[in-house]
Order: sequence, then structure tokens, then C-alpha cells
Amino acid sequence: MPAVNSPHLIKPGSRFDIRATKTHGDNYHPSRKEAEEQFEELREELIQWQYKLYAEQKQKLLVVLQAMDAGGKDGTIRKVFTGVNPQGVEVTSFKVPSKEELSHDFLWRIHKAAPATGMIGVFNRSHYEDVLVVRVENIVPESVWRPRYETINHFEKLLADAGTRIVKFYLHISRDEQKERFQERLDNPGKHWKFSMDDLRKREQWDDYMDAYEDALNNCSTNHALWYVIPADSKWYRNYAITKILVETLRDMNPDYPESEDDLSGVVIE
Ligand code: AMP
Ligand code: MG
Repeated sequence: MPAVNSPHLIKPGSRFDIRATKTHGDNYHPSRKEAEEQFEELREELIQWQYKLYAEQKQKLLVVLQAMDAGGKDGTIRKVFTGVNPQGVEVTSFKVPSKEELSHDFLWRIHKAAPATGMIGVFNRSHYEDVLVVRVENIVPESVWRPRYETINHFEKLLADAGTRIVKFYLHISRDEQKERFQERLDNPGKHWKFSMDDLRKREQWDDYMDAYEDALNNCSTNHALWYVIPADSKWYRNYAITKILVETLRDMNPDYPESEDDLSGVVIE
């Protein structure tokens, strides 16, 4: 059974329809102001939990972020993890694979970046690119990408069996919202570095990407590695919803400070 329930959870075995799923937070929270206040409280709690997770050195948490371009992956990492102890969080951004990475299986670079005990690992893009961009761009034939859903489920089970809690977020934005964010990047020289012509090409394939996302999320939301679809047109709701799920996951993991290895009773410091 899923440890953390949420209106955004894809229940294993259910059929999620990406085009019928809302992208705006107003549909899920009555008040932006309240959500922003709740987000601040949740963020404080996240910081406390992470401190305990790191001290305990028994469990690990993997957070996977996937989205279309301008979907808000970078912003989510900046907003949600501000204030956590950097020593206990490792963010990995997966780019176009290098020659060396391509000469191995697609999970090789992913497995190396999986969080160690006590850590929160954040994936900015992930092994899912290998059934998303790779599928849409025909980088490999279907006979190669199709079996990857099953391989991914097995791989994530391996991580889960090794004490990793896995939480996967798809930041769901509308095509209109993407247009606005691209325009903002074009209008602001400080954001040009975030824009590439490749982004426009991918935008033209929006429908193919939606099909690929829908399949990936339906095939790979398992009890040991659930997918959540976060309405992400409104950043205030996105930050609130993601932090809430992370905090509830950590409450369930319930890490605690370990005892000292020494008997500290009666210690007097001269
Ligand atoms: P960005 O996240 O904007 O820095 O861009 C990274 C780019 O790398 C995106 O266009 C991804 O689609 C691409 N990418 C990431 N992983 C893979 C992969 N396994 N195969 C092909 N392209 C990838
Ligand atoms: Mg980009």
C-alpha cells in the first residue's frame, strides 16, 4: 500500500489519462496565500527530517523530477530544498549521455548516482529520459526502449530492497504555460542560457511526449516507487504539493537520532 496518499498519486494498476489531468493548482487548493504559508511550515519540517535522516545513517530517499522543458525542475529544487544541510543532499542532473555513458547500459550512470545511506538524492531528469526523449526521437528502436519499463521496475525494486524510499514527480504543465515561460526566457537576457532551439523542436512534438509520459507513468508507478503528477502551472501550488508529499514520506520513514556509542550518563566536562 502507498505510504503517502495524495490526489496526485498514480495508483499502481490504474490508468492515468495525462490529457484529462489538470495542470493548475486552483483546482486543488482554495487559497494561494494559505498554500504559501503551509509551504513555509512544511519546508521547516523537511529541514528537521533531513537532519535526522542524515544523523540516523540507516535509510535513504530518492526524489525523481521529470517534466517538459520549462516545467519547473530547477525551480522546484531551489525552492523546496533551500535550507537543508547541503552535506546530506546530492542533486544529479542528467544530460545527453556522454560517449562513455553510451558505451554502458542505460542504468549505469543512474545507479552510480543513487543516494547512499543517510542521503537525499535528487534526480533532475533520470533514467526515464530513456523511455521519453529516446522514444520520441527514435534514438533507439522500439524493440530496445519497450522492454525498458520492466527493466526500470526491476531496477527500482533493487534500490527499494536496499533501503531506498523512492518518490517520483512529474511536473505537469500545459502547452500554453510552456509558451509563456519560453517567452519570459527570450525576453530576459539573464535567462537566455536556459533556452535552446532544441526546446522549440521538442515543443512541436508535444503530443508524442504526452503519450510517452503517459505510458512511462502508467507502466512504472509501483508500490515500491510511486509516481505523483503535480499540477505545475502555478509554482505556489507545485512547491506546496511536492513538499507536502516529501514531508509525509519522511514522517513515514521516521528517522531518529541514534544513541551515542558511549555511555554519556554522568559525564562531567571540567
Ligand atoms: P537540460 O535539462 O535543459 O539541461 O537538458 C538536458 C537535455 O539532455 C535534455 O534535452 C534531455 O532530453 C537530454 N537527455 C537527458 N538524458 C538523456 C538520454 N538518456 N538520452 C538522450 N537525451 C537525454
Ligand atoms: Mg533545457
